Parts: sequence; C-alpha cells; structure tokens
Amino acid sequence: MSDTLSNNTCERCRIGTTSPVTLDAVHSDDGASVTYSDTFMRCDHCEREFYTTEQSQAQHRAITAALRKRDGFLSAGEIKLAREQYGLSLPEFEKALGVGKNTVGRWERGTVPPASAANFGLWMARYEPVVFERYASTRGVVIRKRPQHATSAMAETEQHPTARANAHLKLVKATRQESRSIVSGYSMLSQEASSVALKA
Ligand SMILES: [Zn+2]
Repeated sequence: MSDTLSNNTCERCRIGTTSPVTLDAVHSDDGASVTYSDTFMRCDHCEREFYTTEQSQAQHRAITAALRKRDGFLSAGEIKLAREQYGLSLPEFEKALGVGKNTVGRWERGTVPPASAANFGLWMARYEPVVFERYASTRGVVIRKRPQHATSAMAETEQHPTARANAHLKLVKATRQESRSIVSGYSMLSQEASSVALKA
C-alpha cells in the first residue's frame, strides 16, 4: 500500500479522513459519451476529492476501454477467447492473422491495443469462424478445434457436402408440399365457386 493510502488524514483540512469512492462516470468525446467506473479519494470532512497516481492511471485505462468497446474493438479478454476457441498457439494465431511476432501476446495482456485493421481480423476470428477458418487456411494455418457456436446448421451445411445436399432436399420437399397444399386449396376454392354458381 502506498503512503497516500495508509496515511489517510486529509492534507487540506487535517481533520477528515480520505477514503476511496467509486461512481459511474461519463466521459464525452466527439459529441458521443461513454460510461465508465471511476474511483477517487474523498475527504469525509471538507469533501476534498483527488486521484492517487494509481487511480488516475486506472481512470485512463477505463476510459480507453469504454471508448474501444463503443467503437467495436475486442477487449484483451475477448482477443484471448478468440484465439483459444480454436486451440491455437500465439504464433499460430499471429500467422493466421498475418501480424508480427509477439503481437497477440501484447494484445492479450492489454499492453498494446490492436489497430483498426487488425481488429477486423480479430472480430472475424471471434464471431465468424467459417470465414476465419477459410482465411487461416489460405495462410497455411489448419484449425483443429472448432468453436462451439460454429456448429450451427449454417456452418455444417457450409462445411459438409452431404449436409448441404440434405438441407437442399428438405427445402425441395417443403416447397413441393407447399405447392400441393396450394393446389388443393385452389381446387377447394373452385369447387366452392361452382357450387355458388349452381345455387345462383
Ligand atoms: Zn478534508
């Protein structure tokens, strides 16, 4: 614990005690605003408020994270998830994305955030496994583990010719059935029409 936190008598009034306060704060930039969690010190006597160095750094990180989230950037944790869902090592994921050595490790630790172009590849990896797998294979990276949400009907149809053929067959059958019921509906209607005509 630092000196400022252990010696918590207020430096201004010398009476009160300073302790951390956490509030939801709003940061505005370019006309848009983001909400983040803000922690600072407050004196219980004179109500003086200030940030310790650590709190100031944390505030900066929280604002940056909120802005990046608003702009569709993956967080450090999401980047790690994107890689791990394929069971890829750091070098394999770097090769698949076409980025330099040690880049992904820095992103995952949150030391350096990815640039906009790199974020697009990461977003694909996180949310579009079929596209990502295809892209990775062109770069010589074979995906051995498939993410759970990729085993949707769409992905299976995309990957397996048999599944695709079956899905097509199902669609043809459904269409035939529909046209049959339309035809029978039509003949019922014309029967009704002729009985109405007879009555008239
Ligand atoms: Zn005070």
